[in-house]
Amino acid sequence: MSHEGHEQPEVVDLLRTLLRFDTTNHGPGRANGELEAARWVEGLLRDAGWEPVLLQHPADPRRASVVVRIEGADRSLPGVLAQGHLDVVPAEAADWSVDPFAGELRDGYVLGRGAVDMKDTCASMLAVALDWGRSGRRPRRDVVLAFVADEETDGTYGAEWLVEAHADLFAGVAAAVSESGAAIEEHPAADGTPVRLARISAGERGTLHVRLTTRGTSGHGSRPGPDNAVLRIVDALHRIGHHPWPVHLADVVRAQLTQTAAALGVEVDLGSDEGVVAAVAALGAAADVAPYTIRASTTPTVVHAGTKVNVVPGTATAEVDIRCPPGYVEQLQAALPALVGPDVEVEPASVGYPLEAPTSGPWWDAMVGALRHVDPAVVVVPGCMGGGTDAKSFARLGIACYGFAPVTLDPEGRRRTGIHGVDERIPVSSLVGGLEALRHFLETV
Ligand SMILES: [Zn+2]
Repeated sequence: MSHEGHEQPEVVDLLRTLLRFDTTNHGPGRANGELEAARWVEGLLRDAGWEPVLLQHPADPRRASVVVRIEGADRSLPGVLAQGHLDVVPAEAADWSVDPFAGELRDGYVLGRGAVDMKDTCASMLAVALDWGRSGRRPRRDVVLAFVADEETDGTYGAEWLVEAHADLFAGVAAAVSESGAAIEEHPAADGTPVRLARISAGERGTLHVRLTTRGTSGHGSRPGPDNAVLRIVDALHRIGHHPWPVHLADVVRAQLTQTAAALGVEVDLGSDEGVVAAVAALGAAADVAPYTIRASTTPTVVHAGTKVNVVPGTATAEVDIRCPPGYVEQLQAALPALVGPDVEVEPASVGYPLEAPTSGPWWDAMVGALRHVDPAVVVVPGCMGGGTDAKSFARLGIACYGFAPVTLDPEGRRRTGIHGVDERIPVSSLVGGLEALRHFLETV
């Protein structure tokens, strides 16, 4: 049987309570909202002696975030931000083996929607602040903790609004850590020996979604003309969706492939597109999302045209999910008009430029040091996210943003799983180890 009867570390209880707040992000206008969870976080921080600020979005006060600044011993140093989102994606409860909002503890796992993305890290941030409050220990530099709303849509009610309306809360902050990086995983080297690897994200592809519109002459479907808006949009989507984007290796992705290959003893040659593709294939799961980050991608996702089979509509629209590696925005934007072709109107639908942060220097060294503190054998490599996070908002304040949400390997082989899926869960030992790494980073950086 499992150890549920035993007393659990505080971070486990914090996570279980966070999971019981249904903070599902259904998109604008339908959200349950983060308010109850935010109020609970605010109360704990206040009871611990800090002065948190609860921030409710004026257009929807149920969308709430909490920010607290903990003053460091040396206030002349630039501050560091740890930010996590309180909202979660919807859970199809019928497919789960447990109630996704019960905060279950079972067989050495904490289960629930958000256990991995990313109430685990929020619980660790909270545990560090509560511990500092009790012990009187202080970080070296100012630490700002932000528990934000609305990451799972686009941050309109969370990070985007905070940086627009409350930038003062982040004054003097030079670096930030958050989700999507620093999970320690084991991969086989070329000779079969297991290697412990952790990727810290030091970049994100840009999000440059566009909306396409085509126009033609509407009329009867039995008398087709030469200017059919539907055919025009289909032709444009075919060209853009099948375009073979060339490899563009951002520095951070090149470093990821080179260092991962070295750690695993795999020979790679990044001198040509074919070499890069072969390297990514040879590294397999150890290359993480490199299959996507080595180039741009243009993926048609939404199409609207027509209402009746015998009527040719006058207009058609589509949306294309465009992701762009760091350093490739100009080339991508220059290539788009010819790619979609003539007679297609293109307008930006959402614009978040790619991010890149330094992979050397004191911030980087402190993150690496924190991971080695909890796992001395770990090999730390930089990496790039394929998609986007709230880091895109905080980066607008000039903050260097990292995906650093540490999680250690469970000694008995349990795995974090179920992100955005079914039975999302995190091993208790991984949560506790991750907290230790985060605490070490925030105290020593
Ligand atoms: Zn997330």
